[in-house]
Amino acid sequence: MNTAKTLLSSDLCERRAWYSLRWAAPFLAPKEILYLAVEHGLCSTGDAGESAESHAMDLCVDPGVDTSEEDLLGLAQHIASLANFLAWLLRGSQTPYKRPETISLPDGTPWTSGAFLNGSETHLRRVVLVDRWDSWTQLAMERSWDVAGECSVYGVGIDCVVVELGSLRKGRWSNPFTRAYRHPVAKTLRFKKRDGDDFGSTWIKVEREHDNASREDWLDAMGDDGVLAESIHVLSMEAPQRGSAIIALAQSKLERIWAAGEPPEENLSMCYDRIHPCPFRACCPRGLEPSSETGFVPFP
Ligand code: SF4
Repeated sequence: MNTAKTLLSSDLCERRAWYSLRWAAPFLAPKEILYLAVEHGLCSTGDAGESAESHAMDLCVDPGVDTSEEDLLGLAQHIASLANFLAWLLRGSQTPYKRPETISLPDGTPWTSGAFLNGSETHLRRVVLVDRWDSWTQLAMERSWDVAGECSVYGVGIDCVVVELGSLRKGRWSNPFTRAYRHPVAKTLRFKKRDGDDFGSTWIKVEREHDNASREDWLDAMGDDGVLAESIHVLSMEAPQRGSAIIALAQSKLERIWAAGEPPEENLSMCYDRIHPCPFRACCPRGLEPSSETGFVPFP
């Protein structure tokens, strides 16, 4: 787990961070699989999209998806198709992305980055997948360990590409990357009408994973309807001025998590948080420790 993620876990619940340093959860949340698959594609030497898609399918099998949906294959295909399109779109003709080296904080604690280096390796960059993009989400992102923490530690700015996914409902993200409408006769691919009206009942709703449009055709149609610019936002941020205070805060939190000899206190209100569901909610609320018997995998 990268260090920013450990610190986010600690902000949500110190016990969760403490467990996360010792145990890998038996399943991954759909969005986590999407992140891992897209990032895998961005770093791959082959076709970014195809690498992302096959990695998503692999992760849906092992370790598997943390979901209550019954159609696991449908969910896996949906995640994989979205991962393919996003990784292909975001990398474009760029060379494979690289991570910055792990570095030591002033107290010697290692910081493993979850960001990437930009093309000239002078700044950081990252992909941010959000349900909804508004001023609150932007403020939260700017103050996150993923952004403020990474920038402070490496002392450089960051470029963030934010992709708006919408909420995951019934095993699907409904957004222009995943669904569109086709005219029944002309077969035109559309996303929204210019007058804002709904498409009539004769237009056929299509899902990207089942439609035979190429990635290029789908992207062109998104651009023609103006939905690409609405769904992706690019922000550049400088390293925070209070970088040394942020680093000191990170050190203090990490030291506390590592030094604790037993699980810290529970944060009961965070166990079933919709945005950050706790991977230990299957055992911890019942008073059980994560263990191999309950499917968790110990870190060496
Ligand atoms: S289940 Fe709740 S108390 Fe337990 S680690 Fe997760 S968030 Fe913390």
